[in-house]
This record gives sequence, structure tokens and C-alpha cells, in this order.
Amino acid sequence: MKITGHTKITGIFGYPIEHTLSPVMHNAAFENLGLDYCYVPFLVLPDDLPYAVKSIRALNLRGVNITIPHKEKVMPLLDEIKEEASIIGAVNTIVNTNGKLTGYNTDGIGFIQSLTEKNISLEGKDILIIGAGGAARAIGYYISQKAKSLAISGRTQYKVENLVKDLNRFNKNKNVISLEDVTDIKKYHMIINTTPLGLKGNDPLPLDIGLLRKDQIVYDLIYKKTPLIQKATEKGCLTLDGSEMLIWQGALSFEIWTGKKPDIAVMRSSLLAAIR
Ligand code: NAP
Repeated sequence: MKITGHTKITGIFGYPIEHTLSPVMHNAAFENLGLDYCYVPFLVLPDDLPYAVKSIRALNLRGVNITIPHKEKVMPLLDEIKEEASIIGAVNTIVNTNGKLTGYNTDGIGFIQSLTEKNISLEGKDILIIGAGGAARAIGYYISQKAKSLAISGRTQYKVENLVKDLNRFNKNKNVISLEDVTDIKKYHMIINTTPLGLKGNDPLPLDIGLLRKDQIVYDLIYKKTPLIQKATEKGCLTLDGSEMLIWQGALSFEIWTGKKPDIAVMRSSLLAAIR
């Protein structure tokens, strides 16, 4: 990559940031299309977020991704928030248009695109989400509009109930319910883990593998092949891991900044090489 005075700068604000895989994926996609852009990781401490957002204008950055822990706190610092990001309550992408900062959320739609690519439809399906944090909120917004039903289960019941209430507010089907525990999972066509369980070697599984049937789909939002994904694959389930959602949310951010669609195969191969 050749950086010149014309190069447009994009990047990611987060804390911590060392683990991020997004630079590899975006820089490979810029290079592949011959775009004079680059993508840089920025370590932004929570107290510094307002200054970092001002620097998007001051340094004439084209745009940034926003990751943990800034996705909600960044919202009041922007000039405009797209409707779905406002409903989800989190921004993961900012574009700078002549000093005007607009916030988007590409996580949920990225999740849906990862299913579409694999010809997996949510139409008429019963879906279970485990976990009720930011990622559950982003994907739940889209799933609840497409699926027959969506059940949400989590360890903190009031957060589950709040999420169910919020999702039903924006969903004319009112098809979102809370599930106290995940012992009866046979009715679900797809089960999605949105908790960090599986990141560490000694984590318990988020569900009892013995209850899974081979015609169920298991999606784990964690980027790597977790024990849940390994065991569900062994059982014969169709499985997807978080690298797919990461690729598609990144592809949508890329398009917002450049106006061009990236080559998904290039993003995927660079990401998988970095994960390995
Ligand atoms: P979050 O807002 O912190 O939510 C995490 C959820 O998991 C909460 O419901 C939390 O429950 C629950 N949880 C945390 N530790 C748990 C444990 N030990 N046992 C049971 N439940 C637990 O985080 P997030 O932003 O939603 O991210 C969740 C996961 O998705 C992370 O692993 C993240 O890396 C991944 N993610 C992937 C992508 C992608 O593109 N693939 C995008 C976004 C996120 P409490 O509320 O009770 O703490």
C-alpha cells in the first residue's frame, strides 16, 4: 500500500483495540479495488471519546468503525443518526461528509447478509438468541421483522425483558418473547450465541449440546471456532461463526465510505488468514 497526500483515512476507535481484525480485512479490500484508502486502528480511552470524535473532522478522516466500549456513548456526539442505528441504540460506523458526521449500525444487517449469502431464510422460522447485550439488540431488530418468532434468553432477566419490550415496540408482529432457560430448544430452527462464552478455554458452553438436533442451525457471533461451533458441527448441525458477520458488517461500512462494493472473497481470505 502506498500512502500519499491524497490517501483517504478510515479506521476503528475502541478500547482495547489490539485484537482487532478489521484493518487486515479493509486494507486488503481497498488494495484489491485499487482505492487510495487506508484503515488504521485507534486506541481511544473512554474519557477521550469526545476528542477522538472531534478529530474525525479535524484530521479529515473519511470515516471510522466504532467498537467496544463506545458504540452507545458515541451517539450524542454525532450530527445525524440513521433510523435503524437509533432504534438499535448503537453506532458502529461513522462517515464524515464535509465535516458532517453520520452514524450507522451495520452489525444487524451484516448478520442478515451473512445468512442471505448462504441461502438461509428466516421466513417462517423460530429463532433463539442467547444473550441480551448490544449484538443481540442489533441482530434482534432484523430477525424479529423476518422470522416467525424470536425467543431471547440471558442471565440477567431484566435486561432480557427490556430487550423483548424494545424489539416488540418496533415490530408489528409482536413476535419476540423471553425464555427463562434454554432447556427446551427443540422447536428452534436457529440458535444464536451472542454471549462471550467460548472466548476463553475454560468457559462453559452456552447451551447443552446433547439437546441439539442435526437439522438445527447454530450461529456463534464469536469470530473463532468456539467449542459450541466445533461440537455442533460434529453433531451434524449447519454452523456459522462470527467471522461471517464481521465480514458483512465490514463490507457495508466499506461501501458507506467508498461508494463501492468490496470483494467479499478478498475480505474473507485476509480475515481467515489473520485469525489462523
Ligand atoms: P455485550 O453488550 O457486553 O453483551 C454480552 C451479553 O452476554 C450480555 O447479555 C451478557 O449478560 C452476556 N454474558 C456475558 N458474560 C456472560 C457469561 N459469562 N455467561 C452468560 N452470559 C454472559 O456484548 P456484545 O457487544 O453484545 O457482544 C457479544 C459478543 O458478540 C462478543 O463476543 C462480541 O465479540 C461478539 N460480536 C461479534 C460481532 C461480529 O461481527 N461477529 C459483532 C458484535 C459483537 P449480562 O448483561 O448479564 O452481563
